Amino acid sequence: MKHNLSPLIALQKLDLRCMEINTQRRKIPERLQVVETPLREAQQLLQQTSAGMEALVKERRSHEKDLEAHEAHTEKMKSRLSELKSNKEYQAHLFEIEVSNKKKGDFEEKILLCMEKIEQLQQTAKEAQAKVNVVENVFAQEKLVLDELEKKLAAELADLESQQQTYSADVDKGLFVRYNSIKAARKDQALAEIKERTCSGCQLQLPPQLISEVKRGEDLLTCPYCRRMLYWGGQTPVETGSVPELDKTSVLEIGESL
Ligand SMILES: [Zn+2]
Repeated sequence: MKHNLSPLIALQKLDLRCMEINTQRRKIPERLQVVETPLREAQQLLQQTSAGMEALVKERRSHEKDLEAHEAHTEKMKSRLSELKSNKEYQAHLFEIEVSNKKKGDFEEKILLCMEKIEQLQQTAKEAQAKVNVVENVFAQEKLVLDELEKKLAAELADLESQQQTYSADVDKGLFVRYNSIKAARKDQALAEIKERTCSGCQLQLPPQLISEVKRGEDLLTCPYCRRMLYWGGQTPVETGSVPELDKTSVLEIGESL
């Protein structure tokens, strides 16, 4: 075999894992939002209920004050009854007192209505608080899991990046530049293994002659459809755990067939 793609295949394995990690990391805020949204909603409902209750308590107090003033006024009117001289005046005053007593009922009704509403809101608040407790728990647990995942992925990425540096230093410069340019254009892999007569990059069937040439491994050939660099599966990629011993002369032999 005249060229050795093994270090690049190993490097690609690292690159693909890095991409996977970056995709996973980008999804973490979205995943957190999925549990954060119901929490915010439950908290908002609780807040609204509390605010509504506060307003109703204020309203009830105001009606109570009105009732108190009204009762004082009625009492005053009653006490003046004895001071009245004529029967006509007396009757008129009695009528006013009767009207005043009816008005008292209106105040009482308003107070009662407030109290009923407060009671309903108390129930709503109780339910909202229970919901907040549940979703707060769910959120806290998910956040813990995601924080842990983020930490794990960041550590793995740092490790992969340092491995990438070691590997890429051993790859022929020209080949490395080409690898990076195809990788950037394809937004994934620059190398494609031939599997079942197809390019594993674009899944299109390759001409048999091209497959034989790739198998022979004399030149570095690219897929005519996606331009990825082809390699035969018989070229076993080196394990990514250790830095491969490179035969630099064979790597440099790739030449102009790129
Ligand atoms: Zn292809």
